[in-house]
Formats: sequence, C-alpha cells, structure tokens
Amino acid sequence: MAGITKRRLQSLRRRDFLTGAALIDGQWVTRDEKDVVVDPATEEHIAEVSRYSATDVSHAIAAAERALCSWRELLPATRGAILRCWARLMLDHSDDLAVLVTSEQGKPLSEARHEIAYGAGFLDWFAAEGERAYGETIPSHKLGSLLHVRMQPIGVAAAITPWNFPVAMVTRKAGAALAAGCPIIVKPAPETPLSALAVARLAEEAGVPSGVFQVLVGDPIELSTPLLSDTRIRALSFTGSTQVGRLLLEGSAATVKKVSLELGGHAPFLVFDDVDLGKAVKGLMAAKFATSGQDCLAANRIYVQRRIYDAFVDSFAGAIAKLKVGHGLDAATDIGPMTKLSVANKCRAQIDDAAAKGARVFSSKQGDELGANFVAPTLLSDVTEDMLIGHEETFGPVAAVLPFDSEEEVIARANTNEMGLAGYVYTDNLRRALRLSEQLECGMIGVNTASFTGPPIPFGGWKQSGLGREGSRHGLAEYMELKYVCFGDLTG
Ligand code: NAD
Repeated sequence: MAGITKRRLQSLRRRDFLTGAALIDGQWVTRDEKDVVVDPATEEHIAEVSRYSATDVSHAIAAAERALCSWRELLPATRGAILRCWARLMLDHSDDLAVLVTSEQGKPLSEARHEIAYGAGFLDWFAAEGERAYGETIPSHKLGSLLHVRMQPIGVAAAITPWNFPVAMVTRKAGAALAAGCPIIVKPAPETPLSALAVARLAEEAGVPSGVFQVLVGDPIELSTPLLSDTRIRALSFTGSTQVGRLLLEGSAATVKKVSLELGGHAPFLVFDDVDLGKAVKGLMAAKFATSGQDCLAANRIYVQRRIYDAFVDSFAGAIAKLKVGHGLDAATDIGPMTKLSVANKCRAQIDDAAAKGARVFSSKQGDELGANFVAPTLLSDVTEDMLIGHEETFGPVAAVLPFDSEEEVIARANTNEMGLAGYVYTDNLRRALRLSEQLECGMIGVNTASFTGPPIPFGGWKQSGLGREGSRHGLAEYMELKYVCFGDLTG
C-alpha cells in the first residue's frame, strides 16, 4: 500500500486543494508553522497544512462580523443561488474531493463519493429552505393590535466538525447558517483538514463573499477558546464526542450562545422473530459497517429475538466474512482503516473485554497484518450489557449481538443507555412497529430500514446524544432568532 495515496494525490485535477492554506477574510493565507496530514492506512505523511492561531481566529471573527450586515440583507433567493452554485461545484469536483476524503479519513472511495453528494445535498436543500423561513401572525389577545413573529439571523456562527464525515458535516452546518443569513467559521478535525479547506476553495468560487465562510485548522483548544469566549459568536454547532460536547456547552455558558450538539450514539438494532432474516441482515450490514463502523448512527447493540437468534448469528457471520479490508483507494475495499489509532484501540479493548466476560468471538482476522489502525470485522455474540461494548459506543467494525425474549424486556434494555441518537426496528408486525417507534428513546428511528438520513430530516439525538437538530427546517432554526413584534393602537 505504500505510496498509493501520494501518487493519487499527485494526479488531482485541483492541485490547489493541497496547498494547506486557509481562507481568512477573503485571503488565502499560510503560516510558517505546519501540521502534517497522515494517511491512516499507511501512516505516511501525505501533506502539510498551515497551523493557525487564536489571533487568526480573532481576525476571522472580525471579518465575519463585518460581512454579517450585507450577507443577512441579501434576498434569500440570492443567497440560495450562491449555495446552489457551491453545491454544483462540489459535484463537478467530486472525484478530487472524494480522493481527499479517502486519503485523510480512510473510508472506501465509493463511500467518499457518496459523502460528497450527500454533503452537496445540504447546500442545495438549504438554498431553498432559506426562502421558507416563515414567521407567524398570531391572533391578537389585545384589541386593536397586530402580533407578528419574525425569524431573523442570529449573527456569526462557529462550527467544530469531526473527522468521520469531513465534508458533509461542514456543509450540513454551513448550508443552514448561510441560508439563514449567518456567516460561519469552521474548525475541522486536525485529522482531516484538507477536505474542509478544499470545500472553502469551492465556496469562494461559488461567490460566497469574503468573511462569510472561513475555515481555520490547528490545535483544537487554541482555536476553540476564542470561538467560545467571543461575544460576537452567537451560535455554536458541534459534532463529535459527548465528552467534548459537554466541555463546549460549559464553555458557551459565559456568553450564552445558542448551542447545537450532535454527539455520540449507541444505537439499538432490534430484530424480532417475524422478520425476513435476509432483509434484516442486509440492513444490519449497512447500519453497522458503513464508514467502517465510524458512524454515530452505527448499530451498536444488536438485540435478536431468541427463536431466530442462532440462525441470525450464522447468517450475519457469513456476511461479515465476505467483507474485504484494505486501503480505501483500492476499489475492492469494504472496510478501511480507523482514522485514529485511539479508535482502533478502543475496538480492540472492547473485543478483549467481551471475550474475557464470556462473549463468543467471530473475527474475519483480515487486516491484522495491515497496520495498527486496521480492525478486522468482528462479531461478538452472547454479549451482555455489563460488557464494555454493551454500554459504550464502539465506532468501529465490531458488532455486538445480544439475545432477548420479549418486547417489553427489549424496550427497557434499549432505553437504559444514556445515549439516544438512532434506533432500528425490524419487524413485520405493524402494531409492534408503531409501539416501538413511540417508546424508544432516540431522536431517529428506522423501521425496517437502515437508510434514513438526508437533508430533509431532523438529524439529532435525545438524552446525552445531543441538543438541537441539523438538516430540515429545524436545522435552519438553530441559526435564527425569533422576534415578536406587537403593533398596537391600530384604531387611532
Ligand atoms: P472529538 O470529540 O475529540 O473530536 C471532534 C471535534 O472536536 C474535532 O474537531 C476535534 O478537534 C474537536 N475537539 C476535540 N477536543 C476539543 C476541545 N477540548 N475543545 C474544542 N474542540 C475539541 O472526537 P474524537 O476523540 O476524535 O473521537 C472520539 C469518539 O467521539 C469517537 O470514538 C466517537 O465515539 C465520537 N465521535 C462521534 C462523532 C459523531 O459523528 N457524532 C464524530 C467523531 C467522533
């Protein structure tokens, strides 16, 4: 695998995607201090990016504040036209962007291409939704008065984005902010800066004005400290771990920002004994192994009703055995490396812990020889909630299967966890499906499907999985304030 990524990057159509410069106040600026970007599959250095400072963030905030007035005063349709152009440019450069994503994140190239289309979709969708930020007229409770509620842009926003979807998490936040009339400053994950910087190049080419979309890369604490403390940042959107989400929520308290958090998951995947086994296994393969398992929607606790338990485990193990582990740029690869060694180590620790506590382990053993960031797709059966994998998020290609007997029992077990992002229910019984969709404590539920995300849906979690929503009209509202206006004395 050595050298494969560098060779592929050298053949990019857009060589400027690799300059490692950031867009601050309409200028592409570089710094002497650099950070290296690493291919997680080979651990080779593949690029360098400038490291920006807290002072650079302050300049970016000042530029965003200056840009706010003219951006929010544009017609929503004008802002929408710019967002649509940005989306089109992303699709035009999909091949190059996908290579960047795979090079620094590790996911298979086909999934990276899908991410670019998914990410561009948010820009397109919010382009239209910005035109529908309707207010309300309230029937008055006062004689001779008219009561209006308007939706207005909240001000400058900041986004801290993760490495698992280094393009789509940027555009999901930026699409909503820009459509609402708010400039946004993005701090991407240090592991995946190239994708976000490339998206910024396309934003500029699409006509996003100076200061309206800025991306700064560098040390997470140095860059986020001024974003948190500055009163001019009115909204903060974060996707990442619950642990960091808590810190950012605390850090936003002093300036009372509007905070939206999309945090970890620990999705229950419930399979009842009336289902078509083949369909359930197919859905589970997608829900577990997309993005090599590094997905907050990933099925983490697979509850299977006892009557079909053994047959289900056999069929699932058969499907897992077919997964091909390798470099994301190899077209045959289904499972790439973990982006971070800490994530791979967490997978290994969960496997060891489960094995020690009595789980049965089926591993394809593939990938073990490829390097420390690779984790072989692994099935753990007879898992219990006291095992690490039974109560904490995995974020890798390790699947935990637990038997259950009754509906009441499995609902209680699924709901005991503090995470409540996504849940999945596979059953042919309509009444049961309705009951479960009502009773599971999650923000999103797929009934007989593992594929439900996209721009129109309110993406977000209950409990410690987050606050607020992304995508959908609710996502736009995260960047808007309500203003109530009472027109009195109309009879005079
Ligand atoms: P993380 O929460 O540390 O990183 C996410 C983002 O937060 C990155 O941009 C990072 O630079 C930034 N960040 C980290 N520490 C910060 C701090 N103190 N102040 C400000 N910003 C900070 O996530 P991780 O450690 O890279 O991954 C750990 C676990 O988090 C994963 O195993 C997974 O469980 C979860 N995670 C979830 C998602 C998701 O989509 N919800 C994405 C990434 C990670």
